[in-house]
Amino acid sequence: MSVIVRFAPSPTGKLHVGNVRTALLNYLFVREQGGQFILRIDDTDVERSTKAYEEGIQTDLSWLGMNWDSTFSQSDRFGEYDKAAEKLKTAGLLYPCYETSDELDKQRKLLRVAGKPPVYDRSALELTDDQKAAYEADGRTPHWRFKLSGNAVKWTDMVRGEQSIEMSSLSDPVLIRGDGSYLYTLPSVVDDIDAKITHVIRGEDHVTNSGAQIEIFRALSEHLPNFAHTPLLVGKDGKGLSKRLGSLSIEQLRLDGLEPLAVCSLLGKIGTSDPVEIRESMDQLSSEFSFSKIGRAPARFDEDELLLLNAKLLHDTPYADVKDRLDALGVSGGEDFWNLIRANITKLGDTASWSVMAFAPMAGQIEPEDAEYCALAADSLPDTLDDDSWSKWTAFLKETTGRKGKSLFMPLRLALTGRARGPGMGEMLQVLGAEKAKARLKGRTG
Ligand code: GLU
Repeated sequence: MSVIVRFAPSPTGKLHVGNVRTALLNYLFVREQGGQFILRIDDTDVERSTKAYEEGIQTDLSWLGMNWDSTFSQSDRFGEYDKAAEKLKTAGLLYPCYETSDELDKQRKLLRVAGKPPVYDRSALELTDDQKAAYEADGRTPHWRFKLSGNAVKWTDMVRGEQSIEMSSLSDPVLIRGDGSYLYTLPSVVDDIDAKITHVIRGEDHVTNSGAQIEIFRALSEHLPNFAHTPLLVGKDGKGLSKRLGSLSIEQLRLDGLEPLAVCSLLGKIGTSDPVEIRESMDQLSSEFSFSKIGRAPARFDEDELLLLNAKLLHDTPYADVKDRLDALGVSGGEDFWNLIRANITKLGDTASWSVMAFAPMAGQIEPEDAEYCALAADSLPDTLDDDSWSKWTAFLKETTGRKGKSLFMPLRLALTGRARGPGMGEMLQVLGAEKAKARLKGRTG
């Protein structure tokens, strides 16, 4: 059996870390199995879906390195949904209902007051043709409900194990609204059948849906995919991310200058039994993927952890892999400079300020009490610098001034770089060159 999976976002907003994790788990699984990854655009809600969001989804997935083998949009397939709906109507499984939302609200309230679950009472099933005609003459158009079996639906979930959902505890789901538009439930099943999806991998907020959808699968076809419902993402405080998802859009992470592989390494590993660490490639992530590693507890997403992974990734990135992007950022200094500063950055964009510091004119930062010391340092600095210059120079300064430790080194670092922390000064001194260094040590712009 060749594996076929789909990621099915609705283009009604930007992709965020939560839905991209679902995409990633689909992607890693299918690449590990050697199958097809389908991008399905769930745009049955024509009012809220936009092309701009759809393009944003494609840009985000491509940036993250999740290439799809094929794509289609639900809005191109209404004819297929109509055929499926007809089939269900003929089988007596899709029935018209005429209640207004106010009437349904009232029904639910009464049931609650009576201590019963707010399950739709199926009174529409009792309507005679005359009653239906009377409603329609009255201007009411029907919404259509799928008739659930009332039995338990069972499946072996690839993450959650044995599942059993009592259909008798659920209302018959509305598949078609009063205005004739489809809710997501039926189109998704029709598409999963037609695309021969073998594994439906999605968040556990869809578990109950799956109960009803499995009954629709059975009513329409012999085909039934496997299901995997993964725990949702929460923040590091254990609270849901829903309020913050706007700031956790993939677009925002991209604009913030994060590395796609850092994002995928984090999202592919949190909530699993594997350690959360940077991986070398998507191939490595997929070769390590297994449903059995996904735990049942919510996966914690921590932005600080993402920054740490990002820094770690850049720390180990060779110059050739970032050269074009450094050029685009206007960073000078070539490979030696990259190797010098990469351990000191969190995001690639941080290189720009290091580059400005090293190559653009800047006045050194000198405390008044260190001015004399720095002037002496300037005068004793040789005109040509090599690998040993820093240690010889500071040894001389130590001997001459009696300074040691922080009071020996920190004034030099501050005067030369304007910062209290940074790369090794032996190399930095050579990058700056003697002329710049002397000027800065004398408090001049150099
Ligand atoms: N468009 C649905 C969603 O984003 C798809 C769910 C599914 O994967 O079936 O929740």
